Amino acid sequence: MTDNPYIKKLVRDEVRALSAYHVPNPGNATKLDAMENPYQFPPELVEQWLTVLKGADLNRYPDPSAQELKQQLRKAMQIPDNMELLLGNGSDEIIQIIIMALAKSGAVVMASEPTFVMYRMIATFCNVDYAGVPLASNFSLDMPAMRMAIKEQQPAVIFLAWPNNPTGNLFDEADVIEIIETAPGLVVVDEAYTSFAQVSFMDKLADYENLVVMRTVSKSGLAGLRLGYLAGSAAWLNEFDKVRMPYNINILTQLSAKFALEHVDVLDDQAAKLRAARTDLMQSLNEINGVEAFNSAANFILFRLDNASDIFACLKQHNILIKNLDPTGGALANCLRVTVSTPEENNAFLQVLKACLA
Ligand code: PMP
Repeated sequence: MTDNPYIKKLVRDEVRALSAYHVPNPGNATKLDAMENPYQFPPELVEQWLTVLKGADLNRYPDPSAQELKQQLRKAMQIPDNMELLLGNGSDEIIQIIIMALAKSGAVVMASEPTFVMYRMIATFCNVDYAGVPLASNFSLDMPAMRMAIKEQQPAVIFLAWPNNPTGNLFDEADVIEIIETAPGLVVVDEAYTSFAQVSFMDKLADYENLVVMRTVSKSGLAGLRLGYLAGSAAWLNEFDKVRMPYNINILTQLSAKFALEHVDVLDDQAAKLRAARTDLMQSLNEINGVEAFNSAANFILFRLDNASDIFACLKQHNILIKNLDPTGGALANCLRVTVSTPEENNAFLQVLKACLA
């Protein structure tokens, strides 16, 4: 709160009511809260990458359309030839671009909930109505509720995280298709965790005029670069491109991401290790008395247990930082979310968790 009279007079009420996206300071804790990939590039590739960076013209603006990076993304990520790409400073920025472009008076942004909180936050600060439709109790899409909400609210855009964050599950593909087919507006399938789910709507882009697919490189080892991408028809992406800031992808990100994607096999191997570690972690969690771990197609696992907030605090005290979703309440009451990491870090987490529960 502030006494500054200008703030109350000038800042929009809905912005004053928001809390900024909270990122806790990890200190020296084992960081298992943000779905980061724990692995780094091998040292010889780091040397090659630094050589590439030496050639960066920092005195010049970056290529505004990041052509070379887009070419490499197309190759590494099998983007269909007849689809365009739009890049964002993280997929967060792409969500913002989409909502800004569709923010007509009365427009509604819809998502099933619980889900990634930025859909709601960005809608709010873009002054657009947001409709959150609760998921069923097993975290699948509640299709009767979705059908009714779509019919009543006629959303301009529906965001579906596939797999969903923070629940980790993939919605039934047939349900997602029904939503695309019945929605009166755009459907964004957010595939942030595609490397761990290994399924995609990318090959359905040509079938639906109202579908776009959004992804990020953050979860597959490049979170520090801030790069998200949107694949879709030129018709949509040409409009979104008008809202994008001209130089939103800086030169260091363009060069680094292009280099990393030339070695995408390294990232793929890391994702494979994490998928194997996810299976082990899931099993170990479910073997603990009183813990219910939910199936995950992502690089994190949501689990429920009694006194979740106390257990979260205990883990933190022992230098293990995960995500506490208990304060969110509702379906997430007594839920915690842990990022899948190396076998060593996963075991450290499990040992501390068991000690906290003892
Ligand atoms: N979509 C989903 C479903 C996410 O979970 C996240 C990050 N937590 C993002 C998008 C944003 O990713 P970034 O901005 O790092 O690309």
